[in-house]
Amino acid sequence: MIHKRKTIVIFLLAIFLPTLIVGYLSFSTFAKRLESVSRLLESSLWTSGQAALQSLEDRLFEYEKQALRPEKFSTLENSTELARGDFILDEDYKIVFPKYLSFELSIDSIDLALSEPRFETLFSRAGRYEFSLKDYVKATEDYQKSFEAATSRQNQAFSLEGLARSFLLSKNFDRARDTYDKLARDYGQLRNKVGHPYGLVASIQLYDIHKDQNKEEEGLETLLDAYKKLWNGDWPMNSPSVRFFISEIDSLLVPAFENQKFPELREKYKNLIALPSSFLLELQIIDFLNNDVVPRIRERRGVYGSGETSQSDRFLTSSNGNLQLISYRILPPTESGETFFGGFVWDLDLLKSEVLPELLKDISEDSGLLLSVLDEKTGITSPEQEGGISKDSLSLSFRNILLPWKLIASLDAFHDLQKTARREKFFYGILLGVIIVLMFIGVLLIVRDVSRETETTQLKTEFVHNVSHELKTPLTLIRLYGETLQRKENLSDKDRREAYEIITKESERLSHMINNILDFSRIEMGRKEFDFKKGNLANVIQNTLESYRYHLEKKGFSIVEEISSDLPDIVFDKEAIASVLINLLSNAMKFSPEKKEVRVTVYRKDDCIGFQVADRGIGISPEARSRIFERFYRLQNRTTSESKGSGLGLTLVKHIVEAHGGEICVDSEPEKGSVFSVYIPVSETLED
Ligand code: ADP
Repeated sequence: MIHKRKTIVIFLLAIFLPTLIVGYLSFSTFAKRLESVSRLLESSLWTSGQAALQSLEDRLFEYEKQALRPEKFSTLENSTELARGDFILDEDYKIVFPKYLSFELSIDSIDLALSEPRFETLFSRAGRYEFSLKDYVKATEDYQKSFEAATSRQNQAFSLEGLARSFLLSKNFDRARDTYDKLARDYGQLRNKVGHPYGLVASIQLYDIHKDQNKEEEGLETLLDAYKKLWNGDWPMNSPSVRFFISEIDSLLVPAFENQKFPELREKYKNLIALPSSFLLELQIIDFLNNDVVPRIRERRGVYGSGETSQSDRFLTSSNGNLQLISYRILPPTESGETFFGGFVWDLDLLKSEVLPELLKDISEDSGLLLSVLDEKTGITSPEQEGGISKDSLSLSFRNILLPWKLIASLDAFHDLQKTARREKFFYGILLGVIIVLMFIGVLLIVRDVSRETETTQLKTEFVHNVSHELKTPLTLIRLYGETLQRKENLSDKDRREAYEIITKESERLSHMINNILDFSRIEMGRKEFDFKKGNLANVIQNTLESYRYHLEKKGFSIVEEISSDLPDIVFDKEAIASVLINLLSNAMKFSPEKKEVRVTVYRKDDCIGFQVADRGIGISPEARSRIFERFYRLQNRTTSESKGSGLGLTLVKHIVEAHGGEICVDSEPEKGSVFSVYIPVSETLED
């Protein structure tokens, strides 16, 4: 135990601890080394990242400069082309381009047209009949007259609208329809007092009338026609009205088309809305300019003053939750001395999908960085980075061109470094693990060896003690009887014979024991030699048993023999086999304190001759069974008085049997007895 502990402590102090320390140190310096390289890379990434950002922004400035060149705006100013994000403002911040807004002005003409006295009298009287007195017949008459009296087309349109309405109220549907038809056809482009074009208002009325008269298809056709004009921007209207009417007409058309009654019209409608309306788009842009851009430009001009004229300026603004980047500049004064602002809304999608990848690729090649932009709102990078953004990437915000994204820069070297670091860590980890495991195995082996050694030492001590005791008993007897013979001359013949017998047997026992010890030491030194000769094994067993019989019977043992007589001769060492039998018999005798019965059997089994020594003694536990053939091994037998022994007997037996190419096995049950079986192969010559 003490030995064991000592060995473990020595092992831990001398090998295990130093290994662990070395392992730890190399690991920690490894991490430190990695960190310093990382830091170096980081700072280089930072510097080149900043440079890349600068370079990207410079290129975007170039792009902006191109987009803001005055020549472009001077051609735009007079064109009726649709806007593609470009816009022009005059010095009062009114939108000059896109053109659409100029329509808004014609609304003034409504008031102007009203100053016609005769028309006015008739028109207001008709109104009174219609609205206060609800006399729709009279109303139609007066509206008819006012129409005839009116000279301006606008007033004529007012009268026709009243006339149609009164026809409708007086349930004169045919006339109402005719009148609305005329209004839509001849005065469609003019607008009523709330600013809605007659073409549109009349079409909706016509749809209602047709529907009431069960001519839904015609009604739908009229409506679809109006929708088409609305969609294409044929009517001058502001965007809230356009949106209102579009949803209004949609709410009439969609349910009507639901039941597949008018497939052709439905198809037309579908084709129409499949094409995006550039008019609506333009309206949207104008709305956006009016609401989000112009006020900001005004504000910025106020803040920065009008000093730096030709400088371009840019800002981010959000429309419906989307961030938009606007750039603008003051254009060079025209010949008439007017100044205009020219600007454009960046197409961020186009920028991200087409322009940026090209630019980034260029810059990447120069700087050796991996570059992409990240839209933090969607989490999408462009161009896409393999395996996502690594955590060592540098994320930079745009400083001058305020794109709503981040520039993500990373170094290839980082990836490589991390890969090798991971690989090395893994490798070293495994190595350390293997070393530790091997050391543990080593310590286990050492502990096992040490405990074996300790055990053997202890067994040896016991052996010396036992052997001395074993030798002493026969010696004492021999001496006792020798002295008796010497002193007592008047001993009877019987007693004398007995004394001689005892002396002979005890010296035989003594010599057997000494033989055992000598044999064992020969075996240990590898010098044991056998004298193999052909002979009859059964005879040898029989003779040996006979010579031992006296001894057994004296101890009160009954002997049962079953020895086959017709066994073939085999090659064996007579003395050795006799010694095997004597050892087995002596054990049977020693370990049978109560039922003193020994059975010796010799028989043929397959290619072997077997002999068994069976007793009915204390038996051997299964755990002990595997160890009884080890040298010095002895069980602590509580019960037997003759339990002293050398622990060599079975070791010798096994060695002898194996030297004959045979085998020995034991079958035993505690408290019931044991059977030792020896098998010696039958062969003409013994080769080994
Ligand atoms: P020993 O000199 O102690 O007999 P052996 O090598 O002959 O040494 O036997 C080893 C041990 O095997 C014995 O101490 C005993 O415990 C056990 N043993 C051997 N033969 C028998 C047997 N016939 N019955 C019970 N135990 C036995």
